[in-house]
Amino acid sequence: MDTHVAPDTDAITQAKIELAAACRWASRLGFQSGVCNHFSVAVPGRPDLMLINPEGYFWSEVTASSLVLADHKGTILSTNGNTVELTAFCIHAPIHAALPQATAVLHTHMHHATAICMREGGEIAKSYLSAMSFYDKIAYDRAFDGAALTPAEGARLAGVIGDATVLMMQNHGPIVVGTTVGEALLRLIYLEDTCKMQLLAEAGGAKLAPIDPKLIKASEPKRFTNYGRTLMTAVVRTLTSEEPDFRT
Ligand SMILES: [Zn+2]
Repeated sequence: MDTHVAPDTDAITQAKIELAAACRWASRLGFQSGVCNHFSVAVPGRPDLMLINPEGYFWSEVTASSLVLADHKGTILSTNGNTVELTAFCIHAPIHAALPQATAVLHTHMHHATAICMREGGEIAKSYLSAMSFYDKIAYDRAFDGAALTPAEGARLAGVIGDATVLMMQNHGPIVVGTTVGEALLRLIYLEDTCKMQLLAEAGGAKLAPIDPKLIKASEPKRFTNYGRTLMTAVVRTLTSEEPDFRT
């Protein structure tokens, strides 16, 4: 890393550990497709820079030191020799640049959420407890234009996300954002759970019972952020015990 650009403070070290941990944990959950899909986090104190998983690596291989540090123009500042996959840069950099609240940006093709994205006019039914904190923060992109190969496509997606925390991209898959890596990872897990439950519940043709909108409005985002912190603590603790090389 170029220390003139981003001093390796404790906060940056922690961000790297959390991003590498999120990759490892999502790998355990089967969320990666091939060596594609990408997780990124804005660098603490340097929101013009991002850390992102390296091109060509399984998430199960990612370590804190293998992450790529890049600016929003695509300049790679880390010196570990790793690169950023083109669509990863074109999706993540414009979202970080346009949405300061999107500290963490996670994109997968996880199966159940992507299955909902494949439906014509597919929507997430508001029927399951785990998604109550973000049911009203789900955006839908119906303008699929192939893989994101230009930053302009990422900027368009950022405009669709707006103040939402989940983007369901038709014919593609989901993006979740969060104010911390832990919060975003928890939202990713709950999103996949919710979509899986919906597909199971709908499989028999049953009508789903909607949750009272008043209850959804009353859910507390702060509590969710706290759950995200708790999740990340548990993920880091478990990985430190079972596959500690992720921290290196
Ligand atoms: Zn994708």
